[in-house]
Amino acid sequence: MSLKEQFIEAIRGRAWEWGEIATGDLNFSSELRKACEANTCGNYGKNWGCPPGIGTIEELKAKIGLFPKALVFTTKYDLEDSFDFDGMKVAGENHRLLTTEMQERFGASNPVYGAGCCTVCERCAYPDACRFPQKRVQAVEAAGINVTDLSRAAGVKYNNGEATVTYFSMILFDE
Ligand code: SF4
Repeated sequence: MSLKEQFIEAIRGRAWEWGEIATGDLNFSSELRKACEANTCGNYGKNWGCPPGIGTIEELKAKIGLFPKALVFTTKYDLEDSFDFDGMKVAGENHRLLTTEMQERFGASNPVYGAGCCTVCERCAYPDACRFPQKRVQAVEAAGINVTDLSRAAGVKYNNGEATVTYFSMILFDE
């Protein structure tokens, strides 16, 4: 079984959808990266999974470009309604757990990029050395990758309907 097949088996039943994209088709947007610099989420300069610790767009483009393929995978959760913030929190935590598990299992050879900053530690060690580099998950959007475009290109739904929330991650492959 190839590594990609093993990965798909590992997420089957836990991920909602997955689809492949050539990394050469990824659009790295410096505009999106500027949104990180505005620090609306409060993680800029505080986490190794986010800018500036994650590296420059050029560095990320080069790192991601070493792998010809990316497999995008999503999790989808039903909420009680659009204001179900507790449900969104649980959904985000479940997605984070799946992404971190995949990073631990496959990340040494195939980097995994997740939704938002790395949340392995209660408080990131940044700017001191990362405590768990093997578990560290970097943010898809911090690389300047637009998730709406990514989902379209990979053939997975960005929005799965009213009162649902969908989270995205991706893993890089040689095949
Ligand atoms: S593993 Fe811990 S120290 Fe390393 S990036 Fe994640 S939160 Fe920060």
